[in-house]
Amino acid sequence: MNKSTATHKDEALEQELYAKRKKIFPREVHGIFANLRILGVVGLLGLYYAVPWLQWDDHQAVLFDLPARKFYILGLTFWPQDFIYMAWLLIIAALSLFFFTALAGRVWCGYACPQTVWTEVFLWIERKIEGDRSKQIKLDKAPMSGHKFAITGSKHAIWILLSLYTGFTFVGFFTPIRELAQSLAQFSLGPWETFWIIFYGFATYGNAGWMREQVCIYMCPYARFQSAMFDHDTLVISYDEKRGDPRGSRKRGADPKEQGLGDCIDCTMCVQVCPTGIDIREGLQYQCISCAACVDVCDDIMDKMNYPKGLVRYTTENALQGKKTHLLRPRVLIYGTFLLALVAGLVYSISQRVPVELDVIRDRNTLYRETDMGLVENVYNLKLINKDKHEHAYSLSVTGLPNLELDTGRREIKVASGEVLNLPVRVRTDPINLERTSSEIIFTLEATNTSEIKTTQSGRFIGPAAGAR
Ligand code: SF4
Ligand code: SF4
Repeated sequence: MNKSTATHKDEALEQELYAKRKKIFPREVHGIFANLRILGVVGLLGLYYAVPWLQWDDHQAVLFDLPARKFYILGLTFWPQDFIYMAWLLIIAALSLFFFTALAGRVWCGYACPQTVWTEVFLWIERKIEGDRSKQIKLDKAPMSGHKFAITGSKHAIWILLSLYTGFTFVGFFTPIRELAQSLAQFSLGPWETFWIIFYGFATYGNAGWMREQVCIYMCPYARFQSAMFDHDTLVISYDEKRGDPRGSRKRGADPKEQGLGDCIDCTMCVQVCPTGIDIREGLQYQCISCAACVDVCDDIMDKMNYPKGLVRYTTENALQGKKTHLLRPRVLIYGTFLLALVAGLVYSISQRVPVELDVIRDRNTLYRETDMGLVENVYNLKLINKDKHEHAYSLSVTGLPNLELDTGRREIKVASGEVLNLPVRVRTDPINLERTSSEIIFTLEATNTSEIKTTQSGRFIGPAAGAR
């Protein structure tokens, strides 16, 4: 094959692979699942916009204060040392996704994903301003005019305002939102705050206003691998081909059997309401976000035709083939057991969390030394971190060998909230108390005003070899 033929073929292939985006104007839908989604949208967005304004004691109820390296979540304060909880939480989130996907398919996508939630709100604004689907299509096809400019301009202005407020709220999780609002009112926002408000606002506007279904189809990694978690017992939205085909229009009240038709009247309403623009009658497709809009609208049509509901419904592949659906199957049980164990472990661990941390580091310069009194002395560098919201005075003690002496060089150990105190200490004992060259000793740190704040940490005490004692 000569070079120019190959190049022409490549170009032809490139052109075929590129699909221009078809603009989707999803029709408004009412029904049980639409109501559930509205409930999800109102609940989740209500939480998102309201939570940063809530106060707990003297601080914001939820605040990820990165400069101070403190995370406030209601009455708890987390420090970088508590990063394990964050990792734990992420594992729980990932496992929850596996569990719920195996059990109920893409419920996350249909009801709780931020992309779905914000797109729903943007669609609602669009409908309020531009009208229903047919009016939107008409307006889209119309040439630019003063009327069109005013309508689409106001839609975009409201979208941008909402997006910027979304960005502002996002930053409010990281900077106290009341101070942020004050800075905004006085036009004295910092450069990073301004950047993140605009960046997050721009992302919201772009994703929910412009990209919409393209985020789900081309950008979301979950859409790509979720099918690996599916099996024949996973809940999916499906068209009942056996019942619906052959499709065709007919008069209301006419007997479809006489006309050799199934229950699908080929009204294409299920396609018109689909936010990703697919036809569920063509089978399960990865673009389907399980929003159940097609279920609601088809149920409506079935009602009008006096046919039983459920031509498009939540079902499983096994059920569609007339087999039994197994809800409790090995993968669901394994995910569920791990999930329960992890959640219980996290709750228990947080409930047992002590807001003080003690690290014991042996002085690396000397193994041990003998004092003038003939005692063996080891030096340690202790690191005390007060993770409580209040300052505390602590008592420090050491056990593990008989007659241990502890010398902290100070009368009182006071550590302010959030402070990390480096405390060199000396531990001494008579060599006759040593049975071996290296023994374990235990440091105990306890707040003087409450026995609930107490922690222990072990260290090694080194002494001379047996012959030298
Ligand atoms: S909404 Fe129902 S009846 Fe109408 S085309 Fe879709 S499947 Fe057929
Ligand atoms: S096919 Fe149905 S469930 Fe899937 S995205 Fe479209 S409307 Fe939603």
